[in-house]
Amino acid sequence: MSLEKEFESLSAEIVSCRKCPRLVRFRESLKARKSFSNMEYWRKPVPGFGDLNAELIIIGLAPAPHGGNRTGRIFTGDESARFLVRNLFKAGFSNKPTSEHKDDGLELINCYMTAAVKCAPPENKPTKEEFENCFPYLERELSLLKRKKLVIALGQLAFSSYLKYASMHGENVKGISFVHGKLYRFKKVTSLMACYHPSPRNTYTGKLTDRMMQVVLKRARMFLGLGKAQPP
Ligand code: SF4
Repeated sequence: MSLEKEFESLSAEIVSCRKCPRLVRFRESLKARKSFSNMEYWRKPVPGFGDLNAELIIIGLAPAPHGGNRTGRIFTGDESARFLVRNLFKAGFSNKPTSEHKDDGLELINCYMTAAVKCAPPENKPTKEEFENCFPYLERELSLLKRKKLVIALGQLAFSSYLKYASMHGENVKGISFVHGKLYRFKKVTSLMACYHPSPRNTYTGKLTDRMMQVVLKRARMFLGLGKAQPP
């Protein structure tokens, strides 16, 4: 089976998943925001998106209730997406600086984005059980992304999910903790870089700025041997 077909089949499985009753209830009954009341919300799990041959993989926490859960594409149509994709574009990992809806022509360049949990959780807080239910999808995605050379985990929870993957694949992850901007070189799995999550809670308060995000992405380019990004 071709890589595209394998991803297609995995995405179809993800999109029809109903393993977590609380998340199914939340995503299906969420009230649309006034500003989006003329739109049909997606209300299903949101699979990963991007270049299937990417060297850079970005893992977030989960789709936002009025972002991915509305548009059907991860990091699309909310403040986190705006921050992240603007910075990916500046660093040469996307063809445009905006990510507003599924058919907006956004293409990721040598980059693939996904989330540790594929359904929007209430208050952005999946339970331990929901993480565990969804982990096999992340595991399968990562295993299919054979050209990956670096994973950026956005936030502590995505970071922990990747450590779980690393541990499952024989890496000793004992004592490893999240430090923004730090690179963790592994022997048995793809190396990892930690980055604060680009949620408004972090970007509005200055915990994560565009400059800090550019430092992380520049470091990623260097690690991948890509050299400087061409100015957009
Ligand atoms: S969070 Fe994952 S496991 Fe749970 S219902 Fe959504 S897709 Fe299925």
